[in-house]
Amino acid sequence: MLDFVLMETERLYYADSHLLEFEATVSAVVRTEDGRRAVALDRTAFYPTGGGQPFDTGTLGTARVVECIEAEGAGVLHVVEGDAPAEGATVSGRVDWARRLDHIQQHTGQHILSQAFVELYGAQTRSFRMMSDASEIDVDLKDPSDEKIERAIERANEIIWDDRRVRVHNVTTEEAARLPLRRDSAREGELRVIEIEGFDFSPCGGTHARSSGEVGIACARQWERAKGLVRITFVAGRRALEDYRRANRTARAVAALFSVARDESAEAVARLQDENRQLQKRLRASEALAARAEARELLEEADAGDGLRVVARVLEGRDAEGLRRLAAALASNARTVALLGSREEGGARLVFARSPDAAPDMNALMRSACVALEGRGGGRADMAQGGGPRAEALDAAIEEAARSVRDSA
Ligand SMILES: [Zn+2]
Repeated sequence: MLDFVLMETERLYYADSHLLEFEATVSAVVRTEDGRRAVALDRTAFYPTGGGQPFDTGTLGTARVVECIEAEGAGVLHVVEGDAPAEGATVSGRVDWARRLDHIQQHTGQHILSQAFVELYGAQTRSFRMMSDASEIDVDLKDPSDEKIERAIERANEIIWDDRRVRVHNVTTEEAARLPLRRDSAREGELRVIEIEGFDFSPCGGTHARSSGEVGIACARQWERAKGLVRITFVAGRRALEDYRRANRTARAVAALFSVARDESAEAVARLQDENRQLQKRLRASEALAARAEARELLEEADAGDGLRVVARVLEGRDAEGLRRLAAALASNARTVALLGSREEGGARLVFARSPDAAPDMNALMRSACVALEGRGGGRADMAQGGGPRAEALDAAIEEAARSVRDSA
């Protein structure tokens, strides 16, 4: 808690949200809870964080105003960096216009958008947050859809381009009761009502445009369901321009990769995905064919001896999938056992498989082979996999498995 008492600050932004330069008297210089220096003034044009709208920045004399805080019931604290003015001094304040205009555009845009949802669907806005790159409203909208939301965006932009006057009414509670307020205020006593001419009346303490045209444009970036409401992310004014530039850059970069016009890139991506699926299918078929051909060759070389053919091989550089495929192709031949291995960085892998009419237990063979590789492995009686870090023991492990198979035959 703040351990000092401040005089209530006269808020110049209430009467004029475009007032950027002002003179004031320093009523106190204090430390905030986290130890930063803060200046209290008798009057200020700086907006402190509140009502979903972030603080203004600017200068006080030669000091930089880096944050403005609403000190509960006491006034506005200007957190400064640099030389803080002395108590009792007269100081010139200057609000950063780019940031103020941005807040004006988002905030006024929000009033208009929220009323558009009420007008079209009777859907109230339950909360509003202005973030650094976009803003969010949570709207009580039933059955949301792109079309529904875009219709509200259309309506909001009609109001913006009508360039309607924005008026501030300071009214009593009784007077407020006669106004068509979009939402009730929790405040008692005098109320500040923002009117967007003939469209929206809502109680608000923020900074707003002089006329709706100053908002420029409002666009919905995305929406999602959130806690029974619909969360709409939107951008207005200059942010919409920045957002358009980003989106356009991305769309053009993607289109350039496909050598198509910007708006054809989604189609091009879909085509590529389709081609990719077809190729994968053909690749799988070719791989199966290659595995069968390789299996045939290996079987010809294999010693048929007493009728059980054993293919025991180290195939350098073969990946796990390739080994599995070849082992399966071999095991699809009668009375055949495949004992395959390959080396990879940091170790060796093994795949053992046998045809259904061969007896040896691949799982048991794999377990003992993996002991030699100092690794792990296992599987079913007809197919097992494993591996381990001792790659130098791979040949011996396969030979040992082959001997064991022949001995059992
Ligand atoms: Zn407002």
